[in-house]
Amino acid sequence: MPLEISGLVKRYGRGADAREVVRGLDLKLQRGECFALLGPNGAGKTTTLRCALGLTEASAGRIRLCGLPVPGQAREARARVGVVPQMDSLDPDFTCAENLIVFAGYFGIHEREIRPRVPELLAFAGLEGKETARIQSLSGGMKRRLTLARALVNRPELLVLDEPTTGLDPQARHLIWERLRRLTAEGTTILLTTHFMDEAERLAHRLAILDTGRILAQGSPREVIAAHIEPQVVEVFGDWTEAESAGGSGAAAWAAAHAGALSRRCEISGETAFCYTDDAAPLLAHLARQPGLRTLHRPANLEDVFLKLTGRELRD
Ligand code: ADP
Repeated sequence: MPLEISGLVKRYGRGADAREVVRGLDLKLQRGECFALLGPNGAGKTTTLRCALGLTEASAGRIRLCGLPVPGQAREARARVGVVPQMDSLDPDFTCAENLIVFAGYFGIHEREIRPRVPELLAFAGLEGKETARIQSLSGGMKRRLTLARALVNRPELLVLDEPTTGLDPQARHLIWERLRRLTAEGTTILLTTHFMDEAERLAHRLAILDTGRILAQGSPREVIAAHIEPQVVEVFGDWTEAESAGGSGAAAWAAAHAGALSRRCEISGETAFCYTDDAAPLLAHLARQPGLRTLHRPANLEDVFLKLTGRELRD
């Protein structure tokens, strides 16, 4: 098994100041699956990854990475893992090819072994012909893709990606998604964190939603959606001065007050009411009688579950 974590606890600080930021976490990753760790800022995702890689010591629990105990044999285990960190850490003084060759050296891979693989690694990252390009000349998306290629120099069993597509344009995101799917199809296991629910929904075979150091939900995207939320959502919004003049605060407030009986749950966020229901037809018929209201009817998605479980208030 590429990664097995049981009862992971991580505490920072001592005595009265001690704070548990990971509180009894269990994870098992199967070979060839993509597993997404989701959670708002401060949920404990990075700490969990750092513990799993043996970069920070767990306060309690058991970790096996690529079959080896962590921290006991963390160094050997890490040699079989590729990491794409949140911040690109490419060496700006080197070319693309040199970055791959130098990085391979950290794994004890000799230049004569890695050099013939450089074109193939660059091609995988959509960077054909960029061998001699300087890092400064690359766009943000190219740097991210080179970091992905760099994480593959040791042919890792497990690839760990911390927010792999943050800051990328849609084209670059789609290319990375396609490459990651190719890797899992070939048997590489992927563990990623992301704030993009569409990314998790598309890529992950399984996922966990984490908050305050605990797993709140776990399973395939479909399982998690089916288990935690009503299947349909009607979003209600609109410029509705009539409600305002009647003392309300707009379309969302009106919908929440009047559509409550026709939906299981109704939440206001900003200027939109989100009405969750098993059957949207009666609610839509009711709302259609109110001129000025606009509605969007859609199936519930992972973002709805995420917001239900972790709340809508801002973090950080
Ligand atoms: P996430 O990656 O989900 O945003 P983190 O794992 O980075 O969350 O952080 C979880 C909690 O642990 C946060 O409250 C953070 O402030 C705290 N934390 C992280 N690293 C340290 C540290 N080195 N010392 C003290 N607290 C830390």
